[in-house]
Amino acid sequence: MLTDNYINGKFQPAIEGATDQVVNPATGKVIGDVASSSAADVDAAVQAAAAAFPEWSAKTPRERSEILHKVADIVEENVAELSELECENVGKPVSIIEFEMDQLCDNWRFFASAGRFLDGKAAGEYLEGYTSMVRRDPIGVVGSIAPWNYPLFMATWKLGPPLAVGNTVVLKPSELTPYTTLRLAELLQDVLPPGVFNVVCGQGQAAGVPLVQHPDVAMVSLTGSVAAGKSVAQEASDSLKRVHLELGGKAPVIVFDDADVEAVVANLRDNSFYNTGQDCTAPCRVIAGSKVHDDFVAQLTDAAGSVVTGDPTDEDTEMGPLVSDVQLDRVSGYVDRAAEAGAEITIGGGPRDSEGYFYQPSVVVGVDQASEIVQREVFGPVITVQAVPDEETALAWANDCDYGLAASVWTNDVGRAMRMARGLRFGTVWVNDHIPIISEMPHGGFKQSGYGKDMSLYALDHYTELKHVMVKH
Ligand code: NAD
Repeated sequence: MLTDNYINGKFQPAIEGATDQVVNPATGKVIGDVASSSAADVDAAVQAAAAAFPEWSAKTPRERSEILHKVADIVEENVAELSELECENVGKPVSIIEFEMDQLCDNWRFFASAGRFLDGKAAGEYLEGYTSMVRRDPIGVVGSIAPWNYPLFMATWKLGPPLAVGNTVVLKPSELTPYTTLRLAELLQDVLPPGVFNVVCGQGQAAGVPLVQHPDVAMVSLTGSVAAGKSVAQEASDSLKRVHLELGGKAPVIVFDDADVEAVVANLRDNSFYNTGQDCTAPCRVIAGSKVHDDFVAQLTDAAGSVVTGDPTDEDTEMGPLVSDVQLDRVSGYVDRAAEAGAEITIGGGPRDSEGYFYQPSVVVGVDQASEIVQREVFGPVITVQAVPDEETALAWANDCDYGLAASVWTNDVGRAMRMARGLRFGTVWVNDHIPIISEMPHGGFKQSGYGKDMSLYALDHYTELKHVMVKH
């Protein structure tokens, strides 16, 4: 296992010699010790990225595109090994990891080409005697900070867009899940010039905060919790850095009385428990029409009870553990408090009796709109179901939440689907589905789910500065 930071094309231990233990969540056993960086390591990485910026940003879009397509080739060639690492470090079942590996390979291909398609207004004589044109210039060094739920996938979102348009990057993976990011750095050692991509491992406070505060970092891009997002926005405000925030979610699933209940249940069985519910867009907050509610709860309870949970290396396993003991306590706490407040747990409702950080697939009903379990991100295999009287209330309840990342509407009435799609204050709205994402379309939040988009050409916009050049003649 790799253990060191990756700075200026070389692996090196943390300057102060500190390390963090990394654990396999399926067993609770330590699998390695990885550099725990401080401000000094961050500074070395930022200096390397700043030194690499002039040459990388001066390359033509085609040159950068060719290099990034090589990155995509190498990632694709090493998917099997990267999947194994992710399974061991995050507890992802081997049976589900193909999906995210396929997505992230496609993301690399998309970003590699997308850097050639920046756009802007036509050059022209908007004032007599002058020609105006716009440029989209790279910003400089981007400090990228990734979460633990999809370590390599999120590293792709943190690296692809900024690199494609000529920025250089210092990436801090989560202290819980550094391995695939470090292996990616090693695989790309001969592909990306030294300093273009640097990895600094370590904790949010000790390594993340100095990265955000560093005067030579031009922009910070974080995917993580709302709490971390607020801290990043505050720390970045001192130097007025640009901030890109992809934060938490609490996705409503609005099931109208005319919906295909079996299809909704099948979707939730696949997607609410995918990655053990540790997904910012996971369908977790069902708002069901009062006519279908009881049938829906019965079918969902059966479906949740049939999810095969256990050893992530077993091909038959559908759901693995939560990522850490802290996450297990967090999820247990939410469900226990909901039960104490009077909610009915129709299935699950507790940890599994085994080693590792397993929690049972759970369904919680009879919950109030204002209750903690409806309002806060649980980030575990837990679905709440509320019975709703009408369309207006369904929309109001869906929007009555601090988060605004993703939502779905299930109905056979096209007019109602369009009314809901317009009214929902979420960055993605699916109609009669929940979860598919594609490289060409934006992903990002409204409200406290953050700002700035990942994926699509819109992601690239955020990593460039728009410049007006006006020539007098
Ligand atoms: P987290 O906020 O605890 O940590 C995310 C990263 O930020 C880690 O690398 C951590 O070390 C770092 N960090 C924490 N505090 C920081 C600070 N004050 N300054 C700088 N860096 C700091 O999040 P997590 O628990 O790793 O990930 C789960 C969260 O991520 C969930 O809320 C989930 O919804 C969110 N998420 C969002 C998206 C999205 O696209 N919107 C995607 C995946 C995950």
